[in-house]
Amino acid sequence: MTRFFTVLFATMMLAIPSQPGDDPGRKLRVVVFGRHPDDPESGAGGLAASLARQGHEVILAYGTAFRGDRRFFGRPEAEVRKEEATAASKVLGAVPKFFPYAHETLVADEATLKDVSSWLVAVKPDIVVTHWPLDTHPNHHVVSSLVWRCYKRQGGWNLYFFEVMTGAQTIGFEPDLYLDINPVRGVKKRSLDEHKSQVPEEIWQAHEQMHRRRGAECGVEFAEAYKLVEAKEGCPRLPVNFLTRKGRESVRTTQKRDQ
Ligand SMILES: [Zn+2]
Repeated sequence: MTRFFTVLFATMMLAIPSQPGDDPGRKLRVVVFGRHPDDPESGAGGLAASLARQGHEVILAYGTAFRGDRRFFGRPEAEVRKEEATAASKVLGAVPKFFPYAHETLVADEATLKDVSSWLVAVKPDIVVTHWPLDTHPNHHVVSSLVWRCYKRQGGWNLYFFEVMTGAQTIGFEPDLYLDINPVRGVKKRSLDEHKSQVPEEIWQAHEQMHRRRGAECGVEFAEAYKLVEAKEGCPRLPVNFLTRKGRESVRTTQKRDQ
């Protein structure tokens, strides 16, 4: 009988191929791709901080950092907002990447797609996290579209979506992965506070409501919510203990087989 179960167990293990992300010692490279400085921080700052604390490499990519010749505090917007985003990234333990487009010139055309795609090919991320595509802010929608098209063309990495200012900006988002951000909530707030030109307290208050709502959905006090497009065979998934909507059931996806 014992031998039967031993053989059965061995057979089951053979039937479950390991994922690269199953290796807890492997350090991953995760890109959180937002449109504006403050989007990656507000949408996925808790995730970024959690990953950085585990020693993973986190890059916050910003599609744009200025509009025309707008100025803040008497200085060019690009200068101010890059400085703020660089400080915010540092708080989270991440590094920033700035694309050179103005808010009004970053569109999802072939030339821009080539730029974004070339950068992602060079960076070789294991995972990319970006805006949910349905969003009242056209800038957010464009970045999501660019990343989505790179994902469909390139393969080699898994894609997740985050939400920002839900109701006012992100719409129709139905997450199925929840991250308890209580241990890193203070770090997330400090990173947002670096965006002094953007009235960070208002952004924080809106996201605090979202944290509480998402937390209530999964049974914790404060949570961020995500959606994985699909579990790509052979690609790591986010190495965090996600919760489900129903409660505290662990869905640490890196330890599960693709179905
Ligand atoms: Zn934005």
